[in-house]
Amino acid sequence: MQCRLLRGLAGVLLTLLCVGLLSLRYHSSPSPQGVPEAPGLSPPSSQPPELQMHDVFIAVKTTRAFHRSRLELLLDTWVSRTREQVTRSHLVVTNCSAEHSHPALSCKMAAEFDAFLASGLRWFCHVDDDNYLNPRALLKLLKTFPWTRDVYIGRPSLNRPIHASEPQPNNRTRLVQFWFATGGAGFCINRKLALKMAPWASGPRFVDTSALIRLPDDCTVGYIVECKLGGHLQPSPLFHSHLETLQLLGAAQLPKQVTLSYGVFEGKLNVIKLHGPFSPEEDSSRFRSLHCLLYPDTPWCPQLVAR
Ligand code: UDP
Ligand code: MN
Repeated sequence: MQCRLLRGLAGVLLTLLCVGLLSLRYHSSPSPQGVPEAPGLSPPSSQPPELQMHDVFIAVKTTRAFHRSRLELLLDTWVSRTREQVTRSHLVVTNCSAEHSHPALSCKMAAEFDAFLASGLRWFCHVDDDNYLNPRALLKLLKTFPWTRDVYIGRPSLNRPIHASEPQPNNRTRLVQFWFATGGAGFCINRKLALKMAPWASGPRFVDTSALIRLPDDCTVGYIVECKLGGHLQPSPLFHSHLETLQLLGAAQLPKQVTLSYGVFEGKLNVIKLHGPFSPEEDSSRFRSLHCLLYPDTPWCPQLVAR
């Protein structure tokens, strides 16, 4: 199956953790709603201020069953590095069904998307609760895009476009193909593009769109961007899911990666290769060790004693 498969965890309340700064919002020209600037104020082509972490809305998809086993690790590690900019980190409890179906998971993606639109922030990034997101590398990447462009960036899950059949009037269908970023590696969309996606993605429409093409949430995002808007996925090798062999990443490459992951594949742990400072018994995901490599000033990291 090409799309990210989500295994069943029946009977739990589905929740979604959203991390974002809600007080410092970007409202410079041109306004996101497309309202024209008053004449005599800043020219329409004026650059927005340099992107900062508090301009980025990060949504972590999770479920109650994983709060202990997965979320705590994230809160201790990378989420703690965003908290200085995060004035109100919060948990959004969705009404999405606890079934492990495409509609239930699309319902969560819709909640992430709507929370982003309401935040007014400049970038939307989605990750799963088994992703490590390096805020420093993310910011560096997002800063490379001119603000005038529509951007959808992530890791394609296939080396070719996926096909879907799109229902047409009079019981006909049309075969469409498009690229999509695999949700398990995380992806980002800028506000300019997100606003254009709203007619297919906001409110109940995301679930409807997903049902129309009968594909999961991450595929639906690609479908909207490429088939409805004529945009393109910008592929990036800096996003990683546990569907790839994570040991292949060299230690020197790790600080540059935007997302990393961990998981079990064919009974074996699929994790990044790092020797320390924590043992695999203490830190099976290797996220704590990675975090100390990237952010050695973290209070719980073994401190290097200067002599
Ligand atoms: N997830 C969810 N509800 C579920 C099962 C999983 O919201 O019933 C979320 C989970 O928290 C994670 C994402 O879906 O953020 C992917 O789940 P998982 O990593 O278990 O599966 P994968 O797709 O990686 O095999
Ligand atoms: Mn996973």
